[in-house]
This record gives sequence, C-alpha cells and structure tokens, in this order.
Amino acid sequence: MRQEITLRVKNKYSKQYKNGYPLIVKEAIINGKDLKEEGALVKLVDEKNQFLGKGYYGNQNKGYGWIVTQKEKEDMDVPFLKNKIQKAMEKRTSLMKDNDTTAYRLFNGEGDGIGGFTIEYFEGYLVINWYSKGIYSFKEEVLVAISEAIDYKGIYEKKRFNTDGTYVDDNDFVTGEQAPAPLLIKENGVKFAVYLNDGAMVGIFLDQREVRKTIRDKYAKGKTVLNTFSYTGAFSVYAALGGASKTTSVDLANRSLPKTIEQFNVNGINELTQSILVEEVFHYFKYAKKKNLKFDMVIMDPPSFARSKKVTFRASKDYTSLVNDAIAITEKNGIIVASTNCSTFGMDKFKGFIDQAFKESKHKYKILEEFTLPSDFATIPQFKEGNYLKVVFIQKLG
Ligand code: SAH
Repeated sequence: MRQEITLRVKNKYSKQYKNGYPLIVKEAIINGKDLKEEGALVKLVDEKNQFLGKGYYGNQNKGYGWIVTQKEKEDMDVPFLKNKIQKAMEKRTSLMKDNDTTAYRLFNGEGDGIGGFTIEYFEGYLVINWYSKGIYSFKEEVLVAISEAIDYKGIYEKKRFNTDGTYVDDNDFVTGEQAPAPLLIKENGVKFAVYLNDGAMVGIFLDQREVRKTIRDKYAKGKTVLNTFSYTGAFSVYAALGGASKTTSVDLANRSLPKTIEQFNVNGINELTQSILVEEVFHYFKYAKKKNLKFDMVIMDPPSFARSKKVTFRASKDYTSLVNDAIAITEKNGIIVASTNCSTFGMDKFKGFIDQAFKESKHKYKILEEFTLPSDFATIPQFKEGNYLKVVFIQKLG
C-alpha cells in the first residue's frame, strides 16, 4: 500500500492551489519533513484543514511533486491515468491523422493533467520520460493505462530522476517489439533517423516542428544559413530542403558530425554540398568575424546551460552577448532566429535580451514572428513556466 500523507499549505499559497496551480513547491508546505518515500499519495489542505488537491510525492526541480486532481474522491489509479491519456490523445487527433508527421508528443505532463512524465510517439513506438522516482513508482499502472488506451509496437523509457532532470544511463527498452535502429520517422514530410535506445536524446527535439517548417517554407530559399548548436542538424536539413544555397552547421559534440550527415542522407542530400563543423560556437563566431564571413540567416538554439573547456554559457545571463555575435555576421536585411528553452525567464525578458544586443551593436531590427511550444506540448495557464520555448525571427535592418 502506498503511504498517504496530508501536507499543510501556508496561507499565503493556498489561493494559487485553489486556482489550479499543479506543482507542490517546497516553500509552500509547512510539514515537508513528513514526506518519506517518493510515490506516496499526497493530500494538500490549507491551514484550516480545507481540502485543496491530491497528488503524489516525487522530488523534481523546486517541487515535492504534483497535484493531479482537485476532486477529493478521485484516485491516481489505472482508470484515472487511462482517462487522462485518452483526453490527451483526443487533443492530438489532427497530428495522429497527419501522414506527413509520424512523431509528436502524446502526453505532456502537467499540461495533460499529471506532472512528472511525458510520452512521445515515434512511428508506432512510445518513449516515456520519467522525471522523478515518485512518478516512476506508478510505472506498472501507467503501462496498463497506456496499453488500454494506445495502439503501439513497443515502449522505451528515459529515467530523468536526478533532481536536476539529468538522465540515468540504463537500458531503455521496456516492452513490446524493439524498434529498428535507426527508426525512420517523418516530420512535415522530412525524414529523421532516430535511435530510441541510445542515451538521453533520440536525435530530434520535437518541440521545434513548426519553427523548422517555417524556416523551410518561408525563409530558406536561396539563402546562406548558419545553424549554431546544431546537434543533429535538423534546422540545416529543413533549410537545405527549402532551397538554401548552403547550410553550415556548428556543434562541438563529435557525434554531431555523423548524425548530421545521416539526417542529410536520409533526405537525399549529399552532405558534401553542405558544411558541418565540429567546433565550439563562440570560437566559430570569432573566426567568422575575423574572416568577415556573412550569412543571410543565423540560427541559434543553445542549451540553457553549457560548459565547454573554455566557455560557460548561461542563457539567462549570456543571451545578449550571443545575439551580438550573431548580428556581427548576419547580412543587412538578413534573419536571426533566436531560440531558447530556458524556463527561468519569459518571452518579454527574452525580447529584452535581443533588444539590448541590437542597442549595443547600434543596428535597427524588426521582429517578424514568434513561436512558443506547439499544441502537442500542451500547457496550462496556471503553470506558465511549463511553456519554456521561446523562438523569435528577427530581421537585421541598417
Ligand atoms: N538546435 C538543435 C538542438 C540543440 S541541443 C536542434 O534543432 O536539434 C544543444 C547542442 O548544443 C548540443 O548538441 C551540444 O553539443 C551543443 N553545444 C553546447 N555548447 C556548445 C558550444 N559551446 N559550442 C558548440 N556547440 C555546443
């Protein structure tokens, strides 16, 4: 039997829980010391013992876990989980029917009613991301619910238990048929080779699907494109397919070279027509400036935090300087695509970083379009920090 614990919420915080805020934040709880084993069921009450919500204990980031229902009679059992998964599928019927896109997020944690895990769909196979030991203790129930709700070939999992969300290296295969390696998926008709059992990342980040499509369909034609922090080169592949005259991909990870070649090749593009560099991005910016290289389009999608031998990059502190680097090597009237997945600041602050960089470099600019998470990465208004993605298309003017 799971332990059941009543957590008392400080007065100051009870209103936000009444309004549906899902994360059990540490500073809101009076008796956090009572929490022992992750996976315990939790009942939240206010200081007058009024019921606020039910959920589970699982350490994740700044939280003790998630509220999953505001109904006192509801339990986190198989029918409950199945119902949430089915509701999530109903929201995604148009993607599920789209023959040009066979990879998307099927269940997005708190955005679909249960924080702490996500499910992604890749051409018939599922990948579950577990973000705490607490939610992982519901694995058997979740698997039964999935089997009743979804038709799938096989299931993989990524355990991101460490409180900072880092991956626990393990065999990721769970059940069903094993996926081929690589597994070929499609996104907006573009192919990608993904590897479901090869570490924390499968080869593509699905949250940029609409940004990639926009680059291909509206911006790439005839342009020279620099893709920094390129990983497996997804933006470069889309740009090349959109008719870019040449793409240059820069990433310091050795694996990025063969992975990017593979993504070009599965789409019928000879990698020798493109440029793929295994290099520190900041070093490349210096080199390009010195050589007076200029690009029609510069894409930047850095991690929130990265440390290489020489440079530490924190999106929340260093984004302005990154935009400055990009401005220096972007043609007049060229486009800068600035992206961040950092959840500690919002769109306004992000645009502030961009504005600051243009002020410093004394150039004018125009914001052409903006993106946040696509609809399959469902979010709820009560939890704004869940909508972490911010992408801005900027035109550099005179
Ligand atoms: N833009 C990619 C995803 C980026 S993931 C996409 O569309 O799929 C972040 C990438 O940044 C990783 O591949 C990592 O190797 C790379 N990276 C981190 N710090 C870097 C640095 N200083 N220079 C170059 N690449 C870096």
